[in-house]
Amino acid sequence: MSVVANILKIKSQIPHQVKLIAVSKTQPVERILEAYQAGQRDFGENKVQELVSKAPSLPSDIQWHHIGHLQSNKVKYIAPFVHMIHAVDSLKLLEIIDREAKKVNRVIPCLLQMHIAKEETKFGLNEMELKSLVDSLLVHPLPNVQIRGLMGMATFTGDMKVVESEFRYLKGVFDSYASLQNDQIRMQELSMGMSGDYLTAIAAGSTMIRVGSQIFGAR
Ligand SMILES: *Cc1c(COP(=O)(O)O)cnc(C)c1O
Repeated sequence: MSVVANILKIKSQIPHQVKLIAVSKTQPVERILEAYQAGQRDFGENKVQELVSKAPSLPSDIQWHHIGHLQSNKVKYIAPFVHMIHAVDSLKLLEIIDREAKKVNRVIPCLLQMHIAKEETKFGLNEMELKSLVDSLLVHPLPNVQIRGLMGMATFTGDMKVVESEFRYLKGVFDSYASLQNDQIRMQELSMGMSGDYLTAIAAGSTMIRVGSQIFGAR
C-alpha cells in the first residue's frame, strides 16, 4: 500500500484527538513529502544528524518530534526548531535543553520517558526517579522547558497482555500527576504506541502514537 493509503487507514482506526506522529527515520525527503501531501504534519526522528539534514529541505509547517534517546551534546542542533522532545530521562538533559532553548529564545515542550519494558536496554526513569525529577523542578523551575507529559516503550513482544499491562501501568503513573498543572509541568500528553501496538496503547489511554513501519514500510 502507498504511504497515503497507510496514513488514511491508521487515521480511520484511531480517535481524532489522538495525534499520529509519522516516524520518518531512514526515509528520504521524497517519502516524507508523500505523507505531507496526505495532510500529515507531525513527524518523528530519533537521530539528530538525520533530522537536521532533512528538515531544511521540507516544508516549514512540519512539526518535528525528537522521539528517541537524545545525547546532551546534540541538543543545540535541534533547539531552534524542534516541536517536542519525547524521551527526556534525566535532569541533566533537561537542564541542557533549557539552556539551549534560552539561547534561541524558546520554551521547548518535553515529555519524560519512563522505563516500562522488561528489556534492560531501554532508557527511561522509574517512578522514584520521576518523582525526584518532578520535585526538583518544583523547587528549581527551568523556564525554557515545559513538561507536557510522559512517554514509554513497551517490551518488544507479541504477547499483547504484557504490552497492555505496561501501557496501563504508565497510564496510572500519568494519571497520578494529572492534578499537577503549572507553568513548568502540564501532564497532558501520553506518548505510547508504535506500529505493532498502537491500538493497544490507545485503548490504555495514549494521546500520541509514534508510527513508522506501518506507514513507510519495513526499514
Ligand atoms: C522507530 C521508533 C518508533 C516507530 O517504530 P515502528 O515500529 O516502525 O512504528 C517509535 N518510537 C521510537 C522511539 C522509535 O525509535
